[in-house]
Amino acid sequence: MTTDYYELLEVTQTASAEEIKRSFRRLAVQYHPDKNPDNPEAEAKFKELAKAYETLSDAERRERYDRFGPDESINIGDPFGTGSMGGLGDLFDAFFGAGGSFGGGRSRGPSGPPRGPDLEAVAQLTFTEAVFGAQHDVTVRTAVTCEVCDGVGAAEGSSVSTCSDCGGTGEVRSVRQTMLGQIVSASVCRTCGGQGQVVLDPCEECSGDGRVVTDKTYTVDIPAGVDSGATLRLTGRGAVGSRGGPPGDLYVKVKAAAHDRFVRQGVDLIHDLPITMTQAALGHHISYETLDGDEDLVIPKGTQSGRVFRLKGRGVPHLGGRGRGDLLVRTIVATPTDLRPAEVELLEQLAQLRGEEVVPADGGLLSRIRSAFK
Ligand SMILES: [Zn+2]
Ligand SMILES: [Zn+2]
Repeated sequence: MTTDYYELLEVTQTASAEEIKRSFRRLAVQYHPDKNPDNPEAEAKFKELAKAYETLSDAERRERYDRFGPDESINIGDPFGTGSMGGLGDLFDAFFGAGGSFGGGRSRGPSGPPRGPDLEAVAQLTFTEAVFGAQHDVTVRTAVTCEVCDGVGAAEGSSVSTCSDCGGTGEVRSVRQTMLGQIVSASVCRTCGGQGQVVLDPCEECSGDGRVVTDKTYTVDIPAGVDSGATLRLTGRGAVGSRGGPPGDLYVKVKAAAHDRFVRQGVDLIHDLPITMTQAALGHHISYETLDGDEDLVIPKGTQSGRVFRLKGRGVPHLGGRGRGDLLVRTIVATPTDLRPAEVELLEQLAQLRGEEVVPADGGLLSRIRSAFK
């Protein structure tokens, strides 16, 4: 494995802070232990990346690194030895946010079992489920506490003991004297993987991990007024951590189906209602189907295309609030395109009565005579 931090982070020596950050973020996601369970190589690479990023993301440290190279020089500015892994938790919080998608794997303390990973599920809702809310089942592949060992990871009759290499702290420290003073470096204990405890006789059911993989179904309360793109967080419904670690969270992404008539615009619903030329001119009275049942809708005579009729409170409920939006019915006057000759004649008579000049675009008289003989 290369120890050149620039090479590790796949950037050039002249890369900007932003470029380094971007590259690290991409690689960190790729090699994150959550994405590579039981892969010590990926874990080692991940730690190397974190170490390299810790140095190169700090302008002062980066300069020192450029001049003196890697070795232990990264700890010179850190005489109290918070160590190369010390800032990793914060590093990840900064990137993914506490409890973010990659929140799993963070430790509660040096010897606490790690929190389980967060999970993601999609709730595919009908249009009305999203508008009015619903109880919706989602099934996720998750990790649950092993029932055989009750999450401890040890076989029956055996137990978990404190790691002798790190004394239960999960961390090993080394101290060196240099001309610049004492340098302390700390790293995760290899023997116990940072957990501070070791299982001597692992449980057969879970191979000592304390959890097993299974499918689980949760009923999610979908609040009224949600829309596609919303994410609901179910605290503690993620996978459990290994050896009794607390569970992560479950994030449920909402996808709402489209409606065949209504388009959502915030809390309002919009419907383009086609009406005929004669209905628009003479007026019309229809029974109009809303999400709450049929309602009378009166289209007055002389209605123009694009006129909006507002049905108060027939829209979408305010998410987490009171009241509902409106239903806006917008009339679209449909011009007839399939006129028979008799109808053409009537319309021409109408135009004459009203003194409206009509010069047909298709040549008028001649083509009308032709079509009459078809
Ligand atoms: Zn077990
Ligand atoms: Zn240990």
